[in-house]
Amino acid sequence: MNVQRQKSNELQKKALQLMPLGTNSNFRYWGMGMTLYVSKAKGCYLWDVDGNRYIDYRMGFGPIILGHAYNEVDEKVIEAIREGVSYAMTSELEILVAEKIISMCPGVEMVRLTNTGTEATMHAVRVARAYTGREKLIKFEGMYHGFQDYALFSTYSPAQVYGNRNSPIPIPASSGIPKCLHDLIITLPFNDFEVLEKTLCSYGEQVAAIIAEPCLGNCDAILPEEGFLEFIRSKCNEYGIVLILDEVKTGFRIARGGAAEYYGIQPDLVTYAKSISNGYPCAAFGGRREIMEIVGRGVAEGGTFCGNKVATAAAYATLTILQEQPILETIAKRGQRLMDGLRGIFERADITASVHGYPTMFSFAVGREKVKDQREWAETDQAYYLRLVEAAMERGVMPDYDPREPWFLCYSHSEADIDRTLEVMEEVVKVVKR
Ligand code: PMP
Repeated sequence: MNVQRQKSNELQKKALQLMPLGTNSNFRYWGMGMTLYVSKAKGCYLWDVDGNRYIDYRMGFGPIILGHAYNEVDEKVIEAIREGVSYAMTSELEILVAEKIISMCPGVEMVRLTNTGTEATMHAVRVARAYTGREKLIKFEGMYHGFQDYALFSTYSPAQVYGNRNSPIPIPASSGIPKCLHDLIITLPFNDFEVLEKTLCSYGEQVAAIIAEPCLGNCDAILPEEGFLEFIRSKCNEYGIVLILDEVKTGFRIARGGAAEYYGIQPDLVTYAKSISNGYPCAAFGGRREIMEIVGRGVAEGGTFCGNKVATAAAYATLTILQEQPILETIAKRGQRLMDGLRGIFERADITASVHGYPTMFSFAVGREKVKDQREWAETDQAYYLRLVEAAMERGVMPDYDPREPWFLCYSHSEADIDRTLEVMEEVVKVVKR
């Protein structure tokens, strides 16, 4: 089977002359002849410029929780923007969104809106440093907290360069990150109680914050081992470290109150974006009143577009729908069927695989029964994963063309879409030989 990609390829040639990699984000470049250009999306479907339709499991890297072009949200945005978009003053809608976030998210007593997840994590780190008067930051290998220099270490480098797991080497993920920042970051393997404990024995009193996604949301949705998040929480209490839970992917997705609700963990600060506004650019960070109150008291934070009407109207509409309707329960039920179905497909094909994550956001890795951190994931068969994805795309099912990126579901994926996806996956696992 061969998918027509002529128009995408023509657009790519033109785009390459105008934008680095021919895209507006490095992650969107899938290679020459592989990178798709999109014409539209509706519900759970996405059409490329050649008219091919896909069941979309990328959901714009996660934000689409209800469905693409979801009328109930779009109507509210259109209504709101007729009264102006950017005032650089505060509107009542911003207060309503803050109230809504605080009512949904355990541990959030005050909140500030930003435009992107990157901004949210960057501000949260500054606030944590200002609050503690310390500078070091701990992050986990394979986690991604946006394209801000402070935490852009050991995200997606080959795990072989991370050194020994007892004394990991922080690897900057880009040229241009100042050398002096290397002194401020400590990177650790996820789910390793012992290494975290030892590291804190040596450096605990210098650490301002531990920033962590609740799972490896940017490396295959690998879950925390039982008790690991609770262990981080208790160690933060012991050493006076601020726990920043980065819920950019998990917030308003794995539960209404994100991982904080799902696991019963109280973060000190928490960051949101993505599902907060069903694809419109809105993000937030918030947390304990005592910490958030230092913002504006010698601690800088803000931005021209923060709290703009597009973002707030979309967030208010999306959060209201998520709060009042059984959206996440419905997605989880369908996602669970998809995860179980995939497990069955691999079993019948006699392929060792781990299907892991949450029903609203999951992935699979081939070649291991269980994966607990990025180092183990690096030993799985990613080349085979990509060949499966290529074959699935040819048949109209589109996960991301990056084995680290989870499959995201939305409310518009119907039972029939799940059936079709399982049919396609059963076929591609048969056709594509390891
Ligand atoms: N944190 C996490 C956990 C993310 O997954 C991402 C984006 N994938 C970010 C931060 C950065 O968000 P943004 O792309 O909106 O800047």
